Amino acid sequence: MRMMLLGPPGAGKGTQAQRIVDAYDIVQLSTGDMLRAAVAAETPVGLQAKEIMARGDLVPDSVVIQIVSDRLDEPDCANGFILDGFPRTVAQAEALDALLEEKGLRLDTTIELAVDDTALLQRIEKRASETVGGARADDNADALKKRLDVYHAQTKPLIDFYRGKGLLMSVDGMQSIDDVTTSIMAALDRVKSSATA
Ligand code: ADP
Repeated sequence: MRMMLLGPPGAGKGTQAQRIVDAYDIVQLSTGDMLRAAVAAETPVGLQAKEIMARGDLVPDSVVIQIVSDRLDEPDCANGFILDGFPRTVAQAEALDALLEEKGLRLDTTIELAVDDTALLQRIEKRASETVGGARADDNADALKKRLDVYHAQTKPLIDFYRGKGLLMSVDGMQSIDDVTTSIMAALDRVKSSATA
């Protein structure tokens, strides 16, 4: 299974990705996690990304595209992967198309976690209040709101991009965590059975 999760910050992509990884024995490729690791290790990429991430902006496309391209070449991706947090711009999505083609791979589906904005702001504010001085430099109310704005401006167009390719499935992200997982698994089962039909 090669798939991606699409949805705003706070939609629960990370939680769901972890469950899909366990169920399908595939790897989670989170550009957020990869970039945070680079920041912690103070690599050249990390040094470049640190301030950008802290304020909730996007790291340059060229940087994340290279990170993902390298990661896709690692042997543990052979059984499949779930992209979480990438692509985030149309340019990244086009680059991903080119990368996959070059590597002879094909995306099976994109799952959109649909969440309404008011609920999202509440979740975001809750998360900010719980993570005061916590692990993530960008989990403060300002950076979270910025991330939501960036999502609307830059990432949301990807929903139409993948719908246009016939690769979009939408799941109601306002359900309980377990019900969201059940809905995602049902959607993935449909993809799997149509692939083998
Ligand atoms: P979220 O919880 O908002 O989904 P992530 O952990 O996916 O956050 O990403 C955190 C930050 O890392 C983003 O706000 C951005 O600065 C950077 N980042 C992650 N993925 C990308 C990407 N594909 N393109 C550009 N920047 C990215």
